[in-house]
Amino acid sequence: MNWQTLSEHQKKAARVLRHAVRRGELAHAYLLEGPKGTGKRQAAMLLAQTLFCEKPRDGEPCLDCRNCRRVASGNHPDVIWVRLEENAATIKKDQIARLIKEFAYRGVESAQKMFIIEDAEKMTVQAENSLLKFIEEPYPGTHALLITEHMHQLLDTIISRCQVLTFVPLSVEAVARRLIEDNQPPHLARIAAALTQDYEEAVALCRDEWIADARALVLQLVQRLHKSSEPALPLLYEKFSLNFDNQQRTAVGLDMLLFWYRDILSLHVGRPKAVVYSDQLDTLKDQALRLSESRSVQAMSLVLDARKRLDAHVNGLSVWEQLVIRLGGLITA
Ligand SMILES: [Zn+2]
Repeated sequence: MNWQTLSEHQKKAARVLRHAVRRGELAHAYLLEGPKGTGKRQAAMLLAQTLFCEKPRDGEPCLDCRNCRRVASGNHPDVIWVRLEENAATIKKDQIARLIKEFAYRGVESAQKMFIIEDAEKMTVQAENSLLKFIEEPYPGTHALLITEHMHQLLDTIISRCQVLTFVPLSVEAVARRLIEDNQPPHLARIAAALTQDYEEAVALCRDEWIADARALVLQLVQRLHKSSEPALPLLYEKFSLNFDNQQRTAVGLDMLLFWYRDILSLHVGRPKAVVYSDQLDTLKDQALRLSESRSVQAMSLVLDARKRLDAHVNGLSVWEQLVIRLGGLITA
């Protein structure tokens, strides 16, 4: 992660932090809050690398010097991470006490020190109170970063001592772009980003072979639905029952099908950039000629109905069967 990328995803948080670093006016404590997968941890690491980099360029850390690498691997002596210990449900007072003891000494290698508390809302009240005293009277040159997905589970007194930076969910386009930059295949990147806006979950999806197979099956289904020569139902019995073998996978399959009809709708309303199956543009255009705007909306609502039936614990294969019959009726009507 560099500042350029952070600014693209989290414009406001990046601007505040970068500006403070440039002017040497970092606050003593920041609270990085927002949903999972929005880059809070990466932003904390970037800030640490920026402070300790040996060869920064135009305010960007080099990401390659000894310090940048030690920050990235969690081995820099002046950057201390506090997180849940293995199998623990809370961050305990002891952990904060040890942290404070560490900070009683000057930076080992420089005049600056930083600590980063992940899942800060998991601190016990005692831990929070110890921390509170510490951030009320910080040692010079110390910086605290608290990271949380649930800010309001923290004591108000902690929140009020911190400068709060809100991290917003990434857009589908932003997640897809970042996946493609990280060398994930574009066709999978788009579907993964549409399925989850959590970057790390999206990476895991791209690496899961099942997703590629599921996507290929959904594409086969939509082609058969639009061709009278090849019936769609046998595909369900031959392939879908094996691949969509549990409720969660069936739900993903239905979402993939929903994106297909949403793509057709996107073409109708002149939003080609929103298309998820962008490598299937010719097929999408062809189907859009035969499925009007209003009928593509109807197709979407049939898929959403199927999702509801699945949530009501109807068997996955029967959900597909009913849906395929209804879609077939809609398309040939
Ligand atoms: Zn560096």
